[in-house]
Amino acid sequence: MFNFRSSLALIIALAASAVMASPLNVTSPKNSAPTTSNTTVVDNKGVISVFWHVITANDTREGGNLPVSLLYDQVKDLNHLYRDTGFSFVLAEYGYHRNEDWFNENDPTRTMMYEWQTKTPFTPKEKAEGLETKEFYDLNVYTRNIPNPLILGDSPFAAEGFIDRTDGVHIDYIATTPGAVTLAHEVGHWMGLLHVFEFECENEGDGLTDTLMQKVPPQSIIMSCEPRVACNGTTFLPNNVMDYAGDDCAREFTPQQRALMRENMIKLRHFKPGPVFN
Ligand SMILES: [Zn+2]
Repeated sequence: MFNFRSSLALIIALAASAVMASPLNVTSPKNSAPTTSNTTVVDNKGVISVFWHVITANDTREGGNLPVSLLYDQVKDLNHLYRDTGFSFVLAEYGYHRNEDWFNENDPTRTMMYEWQTKTPFTPKEKAEGLETKEFYDLNVYTRNIPNPLILGDSPFAAEGFIDRTDGVHIDYIATTPGAVTLAHEVGHWMGLLHVFEFECENEGDGLTDTLMQKVPPQSIIMSCEPRVACNGTTFLPNNVMDYAGDDCAREFTPQQRALMRENMIKLRHFKPGPVFN
């Protein structure tokens, strides 16, 4: 997971791209998903539908052609990591879309895909293939090639007014290996979580008091489970999904992170969490 797009600098870039989505919607309001001004909170017992869009360049694995079994495995992993959050995930639909331009698009605003995602109306065939972006509490996952070698995935950072029809997480197809934490990390952003090292040693870091404040980890230990040094001098082993740590150790959310996800899902995506059993 070297790197998740929402590094400190990149989260600013993402915010910029999110800002760009709004004016575009102004020019084509009928393309917008329901706005967050709708205050109905959907209760589906916390079960989030996943719509997986496999973008491919060709029929090879290197061309992004992931087996269906892997999609189910990824959702299974997601359920394991989110087991104490009040949310679970089901793979509702998946579709394979061969388009080399979309597969390799390097523009963070994804102009080419934006046209596809926001066009309307969808044909019945496209709907059957799961092309249509669903409600803003549905999770759209796009796997493709992310040309920047330092980025394995990116996600819209959930914020009021920024959720539109392009909403969804993008994962590099190379980061969809069994046990990879990339998808869970990006879904954390999708639910409004910051990195644990966000704002580093300033302003409470990520704003939560049960995550240790730390600086952005040096590149030499990104993706690893090597010990880190917190801002208070404490040495600790990284275990948080919202850190840049290895798949083997980035396995936990803190209680405050879980609570914030539940709060954000109600407030921003109007989706009620299910019960939490621990
Ligand atoms: Zn991130």
